[in-house]
Amino acid sequence: MSDSAQLEKTPFVKEIPPKANDLSEWYQAVCYKAELVSLAPVRGCVVLRPYGYGLWERLQGALDTRFKATGHENAYFPLLIPEHLLTRESEHVEGFAPEVAWVTQGGNEKLAERLAIRPTSEVIVGVMYAEWVHSYRDLPILINQWANVMRWEKRTRPFLRTLEFLWQEGHTAHANETEAREEVARMLEVYREVAEDVAAVPVYTGEKSSSERFAGATHTYSIEALMPDGRALQAATSHELGQNFSKAYDITFAAEDQTVQHAWTTSWGMSWRMLGALIMVHGDDRGLRIPPKMAPTEAVIVPIVRAGSDDVTRAARELHATLRAAGLRVKIDERDLRPGNKFADWEMRGVPIRIELGQKDLEAGTATLVRRDKEKGEDGGKLAVPIAEVATRIPPLLDDIQANLLAQARTFLAAHTLRETGRDAFLRRCKERDGMIDIAWCGLPACEADVKAQTSATTRNTRALDAAGPCVACGEPATVRAYFAQSY
Ligand SMILES: [Zn+2]
Repeated sequence: MSDSAQLEKTPFVKEIPPKANDLSEWYQAVCYKAELVSLAPVRGCVVLRPYGYGLWERLQGALDTRFKATGHENAYFPLLIPEHLLTRESEHVEGFAPEVAWVTQGGNEKLAERLAIRPTSEVIVGVMYAEWVHSYRDLPILINQWANVMRWEKRTRPFLRTLEFLWQEGHTAHANETEAREEVARMLEVYREVAEDVAAVPVYTGEKSSSERFAGATHTYSIEALMPDGRALQAATSHELGQNFSKAYDITFAAEDQTVQHAWTTSWGMSWRMLGALIMVHGDDRGLRIPPKMAPTEAVIVPIVRAGSDDVTRAARELHATLRAAGLRVKIDERDLRPGNKFADWEMRGVPIRIELGQKDLEAGTATLVRRDKEKGEDGGKLAVPIAEVATRIPPLLDDIQANLLAQARTFLAAHTLRETGRDAFLRRCKERDGMIDIAWCGLPACEADVKAQTSATTRNTRALDAAGPCVACGEPATVRAYFAQSY
C-alpha cells in the first residue's frame, strides 16, 4: 500500500493488557487510552493530545531551565534546507540521505532546487554561524532550538520513532577544542540529570562506538536507559563535531594572534522519545505512573458525593482552591461518574496522588490520600490526613513518590546489568535480551558487526577500561568497557 493510500486509525482500547505479556501491546494501549497521542491521518505521524503535550511541557521546562542556567539562549532556524547546502558535509549527508523528505514543488511550480525538510539542523545553523562569526570575540555561540524535525522511518511507534517528532537541538561554536569538549560533557550531564532527577529514569552515560556515532561527528556521547523487555533506549545524545562542519560551511574567525582559524562546533539533542522511556519504565498493569516532577497534574481530588451531600462538594472545592493557592498542580473531578470509575481513570493516567473526600472523611475532618506508586493494599499507600494539613503534607509525599519510582527503576537496572567474561554467555544474554550486558571490548567495528549479526545487539555506549584483558566478544585486546543490548 502506498503511503498516501494508507489511512491509519487509532485503535480503540477497552482495557489495558498485562504489561508482562507483551510490552509493545501494553505500551501502545497505554499511549492511546491515557490520551497521550492519537494516530494521525499521515502514516507514521501522531497527534500529541493535551495530556501528552502536558508531559512534553514538563520535560521542556526541566531542560530549558538548565540550558539557560548553563548560558544558552533559544533561537529558531527555518524548516527547509536547500539541497546544495545539505550535501556539503559528505558523511553527514550520507548518514541522513535515506531518511530525508524533500519539497519539490511550490504551488504549481516545480522547484529548480529541491528543499530538504530538516532531519536535524547542523547544516542551516552552520551556514548562519559562518555569517555571524568573524573574530574570537564572537565566540562562543551557545544556541538552543525547540523544533520539529522529520525523518522518513519505515517502522514507527508513538514517541519512540515517528516521521515527525518534537525535540530540542543545541548548536554551539567555540574557539578551541577544549571548550567544545567541555560543552559536550556539560550537556550530557544535563541530560543525565533530567533523565534521573526529573523523569526518574536511571541511565548509563558514555561514548558511542564509531559505527553508532552521529553522521559527521568526531565523538558522540549518549545516555542509555533499559526498558522492561531488556531492550536499551537511547534517550539523548551530545556530539563533538570537531572542525568538520566549520570546514564544510566556512565558520572561520580571526584568532587573538591574528591567524584565521576554523571554529569547533557541537550539537546535542533530546526528543519526546524520553517520554516513551518514562512510560515504559514506570507504567504498570493499571496504566501510567508519572513521576511527580513530570506530572501535568500532581494530585486529583475526587469528591465522593451522595444525594444531598452538598457539604462534601463545598469542602472539596475549598480544598481545591487551597491546594492551587499553595502552588500545586491539582484538579478536581466533578464528572457525573461513579467514584470507582474515576479512581481507575486517574490511576490509568498515572496521577501521583488521589485525594478522596466523602461524607465520613468530612465528619472525621480528614481526607484520604492514595499514592499511585504503591500497590493496592501496600503499606503507606493510603493515608488519612486532616483536611487543614493536606497542603503541607503533599509536597513531601510527592518527593517520596519521586524517590520511590527512581529507586524501583534503579533496582531493575542494577538487576539487569550483567558483567560477562565468557563469550558464549555474552552472546546468549545479548540474544535473549537479558539487559545491559557489560563487557571488556576491543572497540573494533568488525567485532561489533559480528555480534550484531549473531544476536541483533550493538554497543549502547562505552567507558574507560578498568583492567587490561581480552575482548569478551572476539579475544583481541580490550580497549574500553561497553554495554551491549538490543535497542529500540
Ligand atoms: Zn572484540
